[in-house]
Amino acid sequence: MLPHCRLLLLLWIAPVLLGCSNSPTVAQDSKKDQFAQDQVIEMPTPIAFDGERAMSYLRKLCEIGPRISGSEGMLKQHDLLKEHFEKHGASVSWQRFEVRQHSQPRPTRMVNLIVTWFPQRPRRILICGHYDTRPLADQEPDRRNWTKPFLSANDGTSTVAWMMEWAHHIKTMDLKIGLDFVLFDGEEYIFEPGRDEYFLGSKHFAMEYRRRPPAHRYIAGVLLDLFAGKDAVFPVEGNSLFHAGRLAEDIWGWAARLEVKAFKWVQGPTVDDDHLALNSVGIPTVDIIDFNYPHWHRLSDLPENCSADSMAAVSRVLSVWVQRIK
Ligand SMILES: [Zn+2]
Repeated sequence: MLPHCRLLLLLWIAPVLLGCSNSPTVAQDSKKDQFAQDQVIEMPTPIAFDGERAMSYLRKLCEIGPRISGSEGMLKQHDLLKEHFEKHGASVSWQRFEVRQHSQPRPTRMVNLIVTWFPQRPRRILICGHYDTRPLADQEPDRRNWTKPFLSANDGTSTVAWMMEWAHHIKTMDLKIGLDFVLFDGEEYIFEPGRDEYFLGSKHFAMEYRRRPPAHRYIAGVLLDLFAGKDAVFPVEGNSLFHAGRLAEDIWGWAARLEVKAFKWVQGPTVDDDHLALNSVGIPTVDIIDFNYPHWHRLSDLPENCSADSMAAVSRVLSVWVQRIK
């Protein structure tokens, strides 16, 4: 996400209450009361997400080292992911492109990774995140630490690990729609903050979706970013509410029914992130993100500061939500 969002966080003193009817204006308990009226709704079974196994995938990815766009670490990650997802029955495809970042002398080869489940189904859901790690740990107070190897365990790794764990469960889910995991490259290939461009992978993906419309259609998208910190909390991100309010209400509604307390039905900060490109081409997409992660863009963004429980909480909500979609 963009660093200026951190400034927004500083300005965010209390949840902002909105005036429109389908916006989060109430605390979660009230939301729960609202949804208590429709108890006749059948509740699908959440998947048996193994948080410890997800953490083992997180550590395995971090053992590669940094996975900066175009780097050897990124290539190693490709091999690991292709083998893993194909072993679990998905098809893996690569969306290749080249971009010259403003600060760089030459173009960089980038690749979005698309993991496809139930390819024959034209109505599809997209769960996405970025899988590149940031070249600089530029929230480190001491500038000399910025260029040290930066593993970025939560930011750019946790979503990948979470998807690797989900791969074990897809076949046990009662899914009526197709599902794609999309991992964006170049989310934060940033060497000169303020000059370099963010979200290169999601922008390319969205441009291709518009330019060469596929036979399938994405009816909704969920972006996972910075969601695996300890005691992570998810208010509704502002752009998600603005561009995909009904989807936010649906997902946070399931969280309330499931009593997953990490999801807060209040408006959170507004963040520029990969979901903007998807919303711009008609894929309503929400960003599930925790703004209070204290290790953001610091060398301390390490596996030991991530949490199996936070990953499992997001899985519980999304696995019920996705099985309800027809
Ligand atoms: Zn980041």
